Amino acid sequence: MGKPYPPATVTQFEILPGVVSAVRQLREAGFLIVVVTNQPDVATGVQRLEIVEEMHHKLRTAGICDAIKVCYHVDRDGCGCRKPKPGMLLEAAREWDIDLAGSFMVGDRWRDVAAGKAAGCYTFFIDNKYLEGCSENADAVVASLEEAGDLILHQVRKRTSR
Ligand SMILES: [Zn+2]
Repeated sequence: MGKPYPPATVTQFEILPGVVSAVRQLREAGFLIVVVTNQPDVATGVQRLEIVEEMHHKLRTAGICDAIKVCYHVDRDGCGCRKPKPGMLLEAAREWDIDLAGSFMVGDRWRDVAAGKAAGCYTFFIDNKYLEGCSENADAVVASLEEAGDLILHQVRKRTSR
């Protein structure tokens, strides 16, 4: 406990209960769902590319995201996409014509929050109690993706009812 590990196999890769319905509600509210993921284990040889791609296929076929952006680099590659850099968010914004200032970045690592802030998004930190904690000041701290989804929908309804 305390240290986040990525799933090693496709079988271990689970979409958490509640995530599917939370994301469905966001999509119904008009949000595009873009997954941005660091996959350094492919570069270091700990994980195979095919396994990661199969996991992403599972995400796509579950119908819970519109796009998946992947960084296969490690820090020393100095790429522009590995979070905390905002490269994947900026690229998705260009491709999908996304208003980043009106977007929300939800993640459970400090790198997610930092990337979201760098891209100008409103940031949610899901506190899974990892020991690394979150050195970044997220706009909001939540216990789950569902909680973030509820807060986002609440904000949107407030905006549109004005
Ligand atoms: Zn990268």
